[in-house]
Amino acid sequence: MSVTPIDGSVLVVNAGSSSLKYQVLDPRTEEVIADGLAEQIGEGQSRIKHWYRGQEVVVDGALADHDAAIAAVLDLFAADGVDVADSGLAAVGHRVVHGGRSFFEPTLINGTVRSEIERICPLAPLHNPANLVGINAVTALLPEVPAVAVFDTAFFHDLPDAAATYALDAAVADEYAIRRYGFHGTSHEYVSRKTAETLGRGYDELNQIVLHLGNGASMSAVAAGRPIDTTMGMTPVEGLVMGTRTGDIDAGIVFQLARVAGMSIDDIDTLVNKRSGLKGLCGENDFRSVLERADAGDESAQRAYDVYLHRLRRYIGAYMIELGRVDAIVFTAGVGENAAPVRADSLAGLENYGIEIDAERNAIRSAEPRVISTDASAITVLVVPTNEELAIARQAMEVAYGS
Ligand code: AMP
Repeated sequence: MSVTPIDGSVLVVNAGSSSLKYQVLDPRTEEVIADGLAEQIGEGQSRIKHWYRGQEVVVDGALADHDAAIAAVLDLFAADGVDVADSGLAAVGHRVVHGGRSFFEPTLINGTVRSEIERICPLAPLHNPANLVGINAVTALLPEVPAVAVFDTAFFHDLPDAAATYALDAAVADEYAIRRYGFHGTSHEYVSRKTAETLGRGYDELNQIVLHLGNGASMSAVAAGRPIDTTMGMTPVEGLVMGTRTGDIDAGIVFQLARVAGMSIDDIDTLVNKRSGLKGLCGENDFRSVLERADAGDESAQRAYDVYLHRLRRYIGAYMIELGRVDAIVFTAGVGENAAPVRADSLAGLENYGIEIDAERNAIRSAEPRVISTDASAITVLVVPTNEELAIARQAMEVAYGS
């Protein structure tokens, strides 16, 4: 087999219900070779943005399903002279949202694993079926390349029982596997390990609070390398206020909407997951716009920001108590990495708790991990960019080859 530019690399696939994100990267050098996103799959007018070695192409056209999307992506590689099927691609890593109680480690995909992922689809009806479609489509086109599933819930599989258990009728919870699973685990693990590396400390020496603030948002408390709590629960809707999700709400609201507003369960699901959060409060889920509008005096954007921040601070306080001693508070993902005001405001006035942000350090923009607290701050505050694709690629290599 001839050596191609992607020889020895990993294809990372993140299949959503109507989208497909992918990246080809070399986990040894961390070099990203290709990156892309197919959107609005199955919706008539689809679009693929494909980036390969510095060149971006955008292709508009209909993609009937994920098989068609993956075939189209392979065609884009072929146009650049890369036959992915015969390229020496080392492995494929698939992000799978929900591992249920079955999966808590990256797992080599075979027929049995596929059936088990299918069996737990009811736990994540919006996500796992799409992940499975992605797995099946890539496997059909690249049958010889080892494929590994990396589960978003895995890092949290061993949450302490008290943190993982809802105070729901225990028999019902048990029958339907209702418990707190936690999500964004690949990111929380990557970032908390990177934090230890950045500080030159052992992972198991540090107690950390990790804030993954993107369009989806979650927080975790990691004690000596072991997560002891996280804000997302049975589904990714619990916890922090997000771009379009409510985060924590009173379950009674669901009954109220069904009984009084006559909404169906599907309508309420859409409301809670897609029409709420920042978008529900001010019409927009892009955090940059929320900040700009709030700065310009827009009341609904300011209110959305205040509600977002109130929830963040509540959980920071809770996790400080749960951890007892906190060594590091770490911000990551789109908002956490880029929005200095959110970092400053979420930790403002906590000097008595040993938290002191350095305004100049906080204002620095960089793609590197960095400390933003003062040297005198007892708790170190950092920004550590997440890299879920790299984490998935490394785990895929580890499972496929033990390296
Ligand atoms: P993610 O889901 O991690 O890609 O994060 C997406 C979110 O990060 C969106 O709400 C963006 O508006 C937000 N974001 C990206 N860059 C910035 C920035 N410079 N300032 C504020 N928010 C940002």
